[in-house]
Amino acid sequence: MKTLGLIGGMSWESTAIYYRHLNELARQRLGGLHSARLLLWSFDFAEIEALQAAEDWAAATDRMVEAARRLARAGAEAIVICTNTMHRMATEVEAAVEIPLIHIADATAVAIEASPARRPLLLATGYTMTQDFYKGRLRDRHGIDVTVPDEAGRALVHRVIYEELCQGVVRPESKAAYLDLIEAQRRDGVDGVILGCTEVCMLIGPDDLDLPVFDTTRIHAGRAIDFALS
Ligand code: GLU
Repeated sequence: MKTLGLIGGMSWESTAIYYRHLNELARQRLGGLHSARLLLWSFDFAEIEALQAAEDWAAATDRMVEAARRLARAGAEAIVICTNTMHRMATEVEAAVEIPLIHIADATAVAIEASPARRPLLLATGYTMTQDFYKGRLRDRHGIDVTVPDEAGRALVHRVIYEELCQGVVRPESKAAYLDLIEAQRRDGVDGVILGCTEVCMLIGPDDLDLPVFDTTRIHAGRAIDFALS
């Protein structure tokens, strides 16, 4: 089994979910006492969030590159960035190390392609919903055009991620607000939902919706285990 190098802590709430998925998948595939071989670099998310909010992407990229180098030096055989948003600097991270990066958008695209969804709704941080690093990769590499909520919807989704889910708070009223937003978009032709932030699976999941749901945390962990066992 290969060793995966996780860049996590963004937030640790979702890194803990990755840890569980990766180990459960290793046990499912190999049985018995098997678990995943992992190295984890876990940031203090307050520092990273401050760089995001200041749009200091250069400093954030330096931090990410340094984390990837440390993991590679420690023996990681692939890098797994445990957040959609911080794939903004995936190209720089990949270029800085000699091991592969398992990209969350590519893994998600494979799942979307295998489903009937052709116009999925992307629920993510404001950065992921408005910048091109994620939507553009889905479009240019995979031919998938995603829809994003309007400005008020994006503000709601972003606020719940940072003020609630990343702080371990799961509120029924926020869940209801997300489901209302999805229902409204569905009337406009959306036919699937990408949980495009690794904490959104704490709030909603496939049981809440009768649409294809793409849980990027689970999908990414699955792709990482495929690599580890290849
Ligand atoms: N984990 C989140 C994501 O998947 C948001 C936190 C972050 O900005 O990294 O985008």
